[in-house]
Amino acid sequence: MSWHLIQNAERRLAAETVLLRPASGGDVRVALGYPNTYFVGMSNLGMQAVYAHLNRIPGVTCERFFLPDPEELQEYRACGRPLFTLESQRPVGDFDLVAFSVSYENDYPHLALMLDLAGLPLFSKERSANQPLVLVGGAITLLNPEPLADFADLFALGEAEGLIEPLIEALRRGAGRDRRALLEGLAQLPGFYVPSLYEPRYQDGRFAGLMAAPGAPARLEPRHLDSEAFQDTLASSQILTPDTEFGRSGLIEVSRGCPYLCRFCTVGFSYPRVRWQPVDRLWQAVERLLEFTDRVGLISASVGNHPRIEELCQRLLDRGGSVSFSSLRADRLPESLLEALVRGGAQTLTLAPEVGSDRLRRAINKRFTDVGYLEAARRVFRKGVRNLRMYSMVGLPGEEDEHVEALVGLVRQTRRVQCEEGRSGGRITLSMGQFVPKPATPFQWEALAPRKVVSARMKKVERALGGQGGVQVHSESPKWALLQGLLARGDRRFARVIASVYREPSFRAWMQALEEEGIDVAQEAFAPRDPAWPLPWGHLDSPWSAGLLLKDRARAARIASGPCPSTSIPPS
Ligand code: SF4
Repeated sequence: MSWHLIQNAERRLAAETVLLRPASGGDVRVALGYPNTYFVGMSNLGMQAVYAHLNRIPGVTCERFFLPDPEELQEYRACGRPLFTLESQRPVGDFDLVAFSVSYENDYPHLALMLDLAGLPLFSKERSANQPLVLVGGAITLLNPEPLADFADLFALGEAEGLIEPLIEALRRGAGRDRRALLEGLAQLPGFYVPSLYEPRYQDGRFAGLMAAPGAPARLEPRHLDSEAFQDTLASSQILTPDTEFGRSGLIEVSRGCPYLCRFCTVGFSYPRVRWQPVDRLWQAVERLLEFTDRVGLISASVGNHPRIEELCQRLLDRGGSVSFSSLRADRLPESLLEALVRGGAQTLTLAPEVGSDRLRRAINKRFTDVGYLEAARRVFRKGVRNLRMYSMVGLPGEEDEHVEALVGLVRQTRRVQCEEGRSGGRITLSMGQFVPKPATPFQWEALAPRKVVSARMKKVERALGGQGGVQVHSESPKWALLQGLLARGDRRFARVIASVYREPSFRAWMQALEEEGIDVAQEAFAPRDPAWPLPWGHLDSPWSAGLLLKDRARAARIASGPCPSTSIPPS
């Protein structure tokens, strides 16, 4: 049966355009895993950047592996062949280092499944000396790595580009050495975290702190790049394939971090400051990509803020390329960006109002009003875009029923504007998700809103907009928001929960495993956290101290209950 798996791998490789050809051989072999399918993993620029960086180091070979698609998974199970890498189809377990890039909580069970399929023990303490080290890096290491701590031999905390060389050097120095001695040595390097050197304590069924082994650092500082180092490591697609979210677009990272500090979002708070790539450097990367594709995607938390973004777009259009953006803000929408999107054939644009109330929007630190949002939508439709996607959240701290009614009003007004601008044949799609409190943000202590309340509010919006022509509403399941919320702020006990459910991760299985582990869901998810009590990620340094985050949280609460009018548009 495994010939079909090989064929799939060969088919994927044949469809790829490779800008950087990996070396073969070498003294350090790394299997780089993305804990989701090829489609999702290859859409992730971070994964591509790490892959390219590793393969540029002389003597290092890096190959990719992904979560098998459902049919492939059946074949792996039926034939018993261990999970293998895409490039050489060698078993993942044969490499020196197995590294995962993890960005989202819903990928945690996938990581466990991939270890299992690779024939590697799930828990680091069960791995033998001749098995590869398992490293976890990626965005979650800036927030809370603890739910994966028992799976990882090692975490690379922070921005990978600053960690890769020291890691490879340490592996070379430690070749042939005892595994424990190698890990103890790595634990002394800035940005590396060896979880087995820290013992968790619990009190009354709650996490109560981590005890560092003698010699292990008590506090850990994630590695960040300064502006100069960031500009030295421009991330751009090194492999183009049609099998991604962006088709064959080549992606370029324009900046890292975000200046806006929206209180629910980890991007603004987990990076120290925004770093921009200079326009000449970006243009070099664009020119290189234009040799292989005419579509370029610019990636950034706030593309519209790049000081010379308009010039870059214009040059790209003049060369006959088309451009898309990872995100746009309603209050930062230069005309030239809109022009570039429309000339690139964009029919749909996403502008997230987040909520339908000015007061609540200010409380989460989004600084535009309903009126500003509608003006932006009008410009978008006037320019020729037919469809608009609106993202919003339900269950935010300070939210009342009136805020949800205001969201309905904002969607109706947006639809009206769409029709006024001659786009009545287009669509408005409202996507509603539940607010999930995330580590390292001012809302990290907040409770998750009860499922009943969130479901009732989402249903209210769905009912109110149900008969509205040209409007579609999608609501995310509050069940998944609960699991995401538990994993985002979980402690080390969650690794055992993940290990129980990863084969069949139904909601019922999660709930049962949590109960068996003695985790009180009501306390972990639905109760506000006591700011005086240790947090599972409390040993990680963050650009914002707990004191500053608490002050900012109090500011949000004052705004939510303050005198600012709830909405600036008249009721429809
Ligand atoms: S603008 Fe977007 S990326 Fe930046 S902090 Fe706000 S939500 Fe996060």
